[in-house]
Amino acid sequence: MSDTTYDVVVIGGGPAGYVCSIRLGQLGQKVLCVEKEEVGGVCLNWGCVPSKAIIEASHEYAKVRQGGFGLKVDDARIDGNELQEWKEGIVRRLTGGVRLLFQSNRVDLTYGAAHVAGPRSVTISRRDGTTETIEARKALVIATGASTIEIPHFESDGARVIGAKEAVSLREVPRRLVVIGGGVIGMELGGAYQRLGSELAIVEALPQLLTGVDPDVVAVVERKYVHRGAQIMKSATALGHERAEDGSLVVRVALDGREERLPADVVIVAVGMKPNGFGLGLEELGVHIDGGFVVSDARGQTNVPGIYAIGDCSSARMLAHKAMKEGEVVAEVIAGRKAAKDWVAVPAAIFTDPEIATAGLSEVQARKRGIDVSVGRFPFAALGRAMALNETDGFVKVIAEATTHKILGFQIVGPEAADLISEGALALEMHALAQDIGATMHPHPTLGEGMMEAALSALGQAIHIVNRRPAVRE
Ligand code: NAD
Repeated sequence: MSDTTYDVVVIGGGPAGYVCSIRLGQLGQKVLCVEKEEVGGVCLNWGCVPSKAIIEASHEYAKVRQGGFGLKVDDARIDGNELQEWKEGIVRRLTGGVRLLFQSNRVDLTYGAAHVAGPRSVTISRRDGTTETIEARKALVIATGASTIEIPHFESDGARVIGAKEAVSLREVPRRLVVIGGGVIGMELGGAYQRLGSELAIVEALPQLLTGVDPDVVAVVERKYVHRGAQIMKSATALGHERAEDGSLVVRVALDGREERLPADVVIVAVGMKPNGFGLGLEELGVHIDGGFVVSDARGQTNVPGIYAIGDCSSARMLAHKAMKEGEVVAEVIAGRKAAKDWVAVPAAIFTDPEIATAGLSEVQARKRGIDVSVGRFPFAALGRAMALNETDGFVKVIAEATTHKILGFQIVGPEAADLISEGALALEMHALAQDIGATMHPHPTLGEGMMEAALSALGQAIHIVNRRPAVRE
């Protein structure tokens, strides 16, 4: 690398950092992105996308094995090596795509561990032992992401006790799988391996799986996992494990005052992620760090002028799409444009079976805030398209303000929920009323009709189900 002075240095090449770098390049800034491991971060290398590849494969496999369409397939099996090669191909295409986008937007990329030496200065330590100091004329952007949390007695051994990173790289489907943590990763990967043939047990410390999602939504997913044979332990504590002679494990779990013993070939620990805010040199400069999170405002600015923070290292809602939008906002701010994180809703998608997707307030959150709500609900079982897909579990729920019918939130559990939620996010950004979605023609037969019918149901006007409330007359 010949240049040692840039307009902006972005530390971290994950969704927050690479998007910010590209936008800065588009805005004519001279940018350097410093990445410690591989560009694309957790999301592209072992998180969002690789896990979806495994999850999709597991859905196809389960469908083929289950039949139900008159489809008969003898001897379906999954080849773990081929599955991994396919997944790795996707990772290569995506990370290669980011590198190409960097080139075409004149973003420089360098590999190494960055340390913030001053408000405009970064020292990069490379794997070959060399170091280099880079100056940033305008700004530093901290986009260092988050790391997997480990718990005592379940430190990763890379083979039998693993985290999400190793879990997307298994070449053999474990016969008996114990997942510690019934959150997003545990439910997504646990479900995938269950569909691929694992006997699944989930150990969750709290009384509910997927805490934060409405219980009626979670119940649809939980029922399906249990129906497939999963053992789900809630309010349970994983105490430790013992290793048998053949290398397999027995996980000891405290549940209802007694100790359960769960045999396991593999244990996946998925108990959350912690932000990578410490150890970068920021504390020494007086940057405010709270529990590892680099605190930043609506413009991504920290308390030290010229230092910005975006993505998982700066916010507890660790979502790649949110990180990307923050990257765009901060790039615009640094380039002198008017921009801020002023979105109404942050949609979220959970790739369980069926999928869950949310945007805005949940019914529970709205009621807790004392809002008088009108809740519209439409079951996928009443949709022709869902029947044809043979995926009728779940529903669309619309939460609207009772008197104005202004949409406050969506919760979807069912087929393609992750794709359907974008309409809900747009509705929230546009401050739409239930009438707006209800009156919008949705093509037939599609899953999107569920959004329209749920909005109509909030008004007592659904067509394809019996309405539980009198129709709103305007
Ligand atoms: P999480 O916070 O979603 O879930 C962790 C779960 O582990 C919680 O339910 C928690 O109660 C439980 N837990 C904690 N300690 C435990 C213990 N000792 N024993 C048993 N249970 C315990 O975290 P995650 O699933 O690891 O995901 C990490 C982050 O990645 C989250 O912020 C998540 O939003 C994000 N992520 C998002 C997606 C998506 O949007 N589809 C997918 C994967 C990950």
